[in-house]
Amino acid sequence: MNKFFDKCQKNVKLSEHTTFKIGGFADYFFVAKNKDDLIEAIKVAKEEDVKYYILGGGSNVLVSDDGFRGLVIKIEIADLNLKDNILNVGAGVAIGKIVSLALDNSLTGVEFWTGVPGTIGGAIFGNAGAYGKDAKDVLKSVTYYDATENKIIEKENSKLSFSYRSSEFKNDKKKIVLSCEIKLKKDDKKKIIVEMSDIAKQRSSKIPMEPSAGSVFKNVNENLDQVLGKLDIEQKEKDKFKQYGKIPVALLIEKSGLKGKQVGGVKISEKHANFIVNIGGAKAKDVLRLVEIVKTSVKEKFDVELELENILVGF
Ligand SMILES: Cc1cc2nc3c(=O)[nH]c(=O)nc-3n(C[C@H](O)[C@H](O)[C@H](O)COP(=O)(O)OP(=O)(O)OC[C@H]3O[C@@H](n4cnc5c(N)ncnc54)[C@H](O)[C@@H]3O)c2cc1C
Repeated sequence: MNKFFDKCQKNVKLSEHTTFKIGGFADYFFVAKNKDDLIEAIKVAKEEDVKYYILGGGSNVLVSDDGFRGLVIKIEIADLNLKDNILNVGAGVAIGKIVSLALDNSLTGVEFWTGVPGTIGGAIFGNAGAYGKDAKDVLKSVTYYDATENKIIEKENSKLSFSYRSSEFKNDKKKIVLSCEIKLKKDDKKKIIVEMSDIAKQRSSKIPMEPSAGSVFKNVNENLDQVLGKLDIEQKEKDKFKQYGKIPVALLIEKSGLKGKQVGGVKISEKHANFIVNIGGAKAKDVLRLVEIVKTSVKEKFDVELELENILVGF
C-alpha cells in the first residue's frame, strides 16, 4: 500500500471528532494542514481505490455506529490574514476565531455567526447562517480544489451558487474548499460588541448545552399557507412567518407533542425542538429512529416532508 498511509492514524474513533459525540471508527484518519496535504491524500485515495470523506469541525454530521470504511481527511488549513478589511481564511479556521478577529479589529459583517461552531469550510459547504444572514452574504470569493478536474479554482461569490443551507460544494462533493475571502467593514466597536452580546444571549437561551449536531431538519419554506392553516398559533405569528418566508421546524415538532421524546441515548431537546441531543451513550441508530418518529408525526399532522439538515456519514 502507498507510503502515504504510514502518515495516517488508524482506527480512529470518530465520536471524538464530532460535536454529537457519536460515531464508530474510521479505518484511516489524516489531518490536512495545507492544500498540498489535501491534494496528496485525495490523489492516493483515488489511486488505491479507497473511499474518502472530508471533515471540518464535525458539528453538522451524524456518523454511523459502524464508522467509515476508508480515509477521513480532517481539514485543518489554518491560514488567517487580514488586509484592507478583507479576511483571507484557510478552510479549517473556526468560525469563532473569525468572529473574534472581526471584533478585535472593529470590523462588522460576521456578528450573525456568533456562537456557531465548526470551520469556515463546513460553513461554506452548508451556507451556514443565523438571524437572517448566511455565508453567501459575507463571502467575496472561495478557492477550492476540484478533485474531478485536478485543479485549484478561485471563484467570486457572484459565480458561486448558494441556497438555503446549501451550496455547489454540497451538490458536488469533489469540490473541496481550501480558503475564502470574507469582506468586512470598519464600524464602531461598541456597536459590534452590543450586537454580538445580544446574539450570544439569545442563543444561550435557545440552544441546548448537551452534545448535538445543530438543527436536525431544515426549516419549512414551501406550501406555507397550507401548513400555517394547520397550525394553532396567533395570526400575527403566522404573518411573521409568511413575511420571513419560513416556518421554524422546531414549532412543528413541538406542536406534534415531541419535545422531550427519548429513544435510547438521545432525545428531542426541551429547550429547542429541532435539536436532538445526546444524553449519554447515544448511538447513531437511536438518532435515526427518533428522526423517523419526527418525520412520521410531522407528516401526519402537517402534511410536510421534513428534510434533514444534518449530514449522514458512513451509512
Ligand atoms: C450547538 C450547535 C449550534 C449550531 N448552530 C448553527 C447555526 O446557528 N447556523 C448554522 O447554519 N449551523 C449551525 N450549526 C451547524 C454547524 O455548526 C454548521 O453547519 C457548521 O458550518 C459546520 O461546520 P463544520 O466544520 O463543523 O462541518 P462538518 O460537520 O465537519 O462537515 C459538514 C459538511 O461539510 C463538509 N465540509 C467540511 N469542510 C469542508 C471543506 N473544507 N470543503 C468542502 N466540504 C467541507 C463535510 O464533508 C460535511 O459534509 C450548529 C451546530 C451545533 C452543534
